[in-house]
Amino acid sequence: MTPIQLTPRQKKIVEIVKRSGPITGELIAKEVNLTRATLRPDLAILTMSGILDARPRVGYFYSGKSAGSLLVEEIRRMRVKDLKSVPVVVREETSVYDAIVTLFVEDVGTLIVVSEGGFLEGVVSRKDLLKVTIGQNDVRQVPVNMAMTRMPNIIITTMDETIHLAAAKLIEHQVDALPVVRKIINDQGLEKLEVVGRITKSNITQLFVELGEDK
Ligand code: ADP
Repeated sequence: MTPIQLTPRQKKIVEIVKRSGPITGELIAKEVNLTRATLRPDLAILTMSGILDARPRVGYFYSGKSAGSLLVEEIRRMRVKDLKSVPVVVREETSVYDAIVTLFVEDVGTLIVVSEGGFLEGVVSRKDLLKVTIGQNDVRQVPVNMAMTRMPNIIITTMDETIHLAAAKLIEHQVDALPVVRKIINDQGLEKLEVVGRITKSNITQLFVELGEDK
């Protein structure tokens, strides 16, 4: 994932081609007072990155892709598997007290609740845990499944889904995290969702910062 950073000379070439394209390499070289050979690596970078197109005997022309639109393409190409974090999971019978301790220890805001084998059962958020706690329950006795949102109401994502779609789900459903799952058909022919990761608003924010820094 490397958004294109153009050198001043490459920017100049793009400007010339935008203004005068289609234009031959020879003429571009003349405009910038350099030889065709000197420009060759720059032209190669610009055509390979899709900013310029080249046609034999016609020359170079602007393909309409700015660094910004290449960045958009990059975002749309990225998959959940490129960004996901490890899932932080608890079992249904875990107490609310232990779930709260896990939030602190693992430094997360959402826990994924799984059955034996790591299959998705539900999700429990900070506020879910606060709600049962202020209900004056004995949080050491109450299991987390009393507080969680459960299947089939869980919004999920998969390894090959685009980051863009996963981020759109976070916004649309107003949740902080999505379990990343792999679909498995068990011995009884039933579909199960194995939890293999999580995507959070923090992952997306991190990506935004990295793209902005041109890493
Ligand atoms: P908080 O409740 O701490 O603000 P969220 O906004 O993530 O955190 O959660 C809001 C509600 O949505 C909670 O009741 C939580 O159980 C539920 N929830 C969280 N993540 C999901 C998800 N991926 N799918 C369905 N429900 C979710």
